[in-house]
Amino acid sequence: MITEETKALVDKGIMLPLMEEFYTIQGEGFHKGTAAYFIRIGGCDVGCHWCDVKESWDAGLHPPTHVGEIVEKAIAQSKTIVITGGEPLTWDMTALTNNLKANDCQIHIETSGAYKLSGAWDWICLSPKKIKLPTEEIYPLANELKVIIFNKHDLIFAEEQAAKVSEDCILYLQPEWSNRDKVIPLIVDYVMNNPKWKVSLQTHKYLNIP
Ligand code: SF4
Repeated sequence: MITEETKALVDKGIMLPLMEEFYTIQGEGFHKGTAAYFIRIGGCDVGCHWCDVKESWDAGLHPPTHVGEIVEKAIAQSKTIVITGGEPLTWDMTALTNNLKANDCQIHIETSGAYKLSGAWDWICLSPKKIKLPTEEIYPLANELKVIIFNKHDLIFAEEQAAKVSEDCILYLQPEWSNRDKVIPLIVDYVMNNPKWKVSLQTHKYLNIP
C-alpha cells in the first residue's frame, strides 16, 4: 500500500519505482561492450507488442525507492550508469540525474522519447516507437537513434525518424530479438545499400548476460 506521502515523492522524482539494478556489459548501440550499471525504472504505457520487459509496465509492482539509495548502490559498482525501463521519462529524472552527476557519473538514458525530457544526460539513446511517437524536443538532442526492426515496414519508419534527428546522431537498426532470423538479412542488405545506418545487435543476449 503506497501512502499519499510516497506518491507525492514519486511524482517529484525523489523516489522512483525501481524494478531492478545490475552491473553488466552494455550490449547494444554505441556503447556496446562497455561495463555499466543498469537502473531499470518501472512504468511504461507505450505497449510495444514485442516488448521483452513487459513485467516493467505496471509501476505499481515496483517498490518506490529513494534516489539517494539507488545512487549509493550504483556508484559502489560503476560510474557509467544506464537508466532504462520501462519508460524512464514516465517520471521526473531531475533528482536522480543530479545526484548521479554530483557523484561524477556518466549518465546514459534509453528512452522511447514518448514523454517530456527531464534530467541531465551525457548520452541519449532514442528508440522511437510507432504507437507512441517521441516528443519533438528530444530529436535534436539524441546522440543515437536506435530503431527496432520487426518487419520491412519498420525500415520506412526508421527513415522518417532519421530525418528528425541531428546530423551527428548515430543511426542504428536493431533486429527485434524474437524475429531476428527473418529480419537480420533485411537489415544487412539495407545497411549495405544505405551506409549511413549501422547494425546494432543485442549482444548481451548472445553473451547470456542481463
Ligand atoms: Fe517495452 Fe520499451 Fe516499448 Fe515500453 S517502450 S513497451 S518498455 S519496448
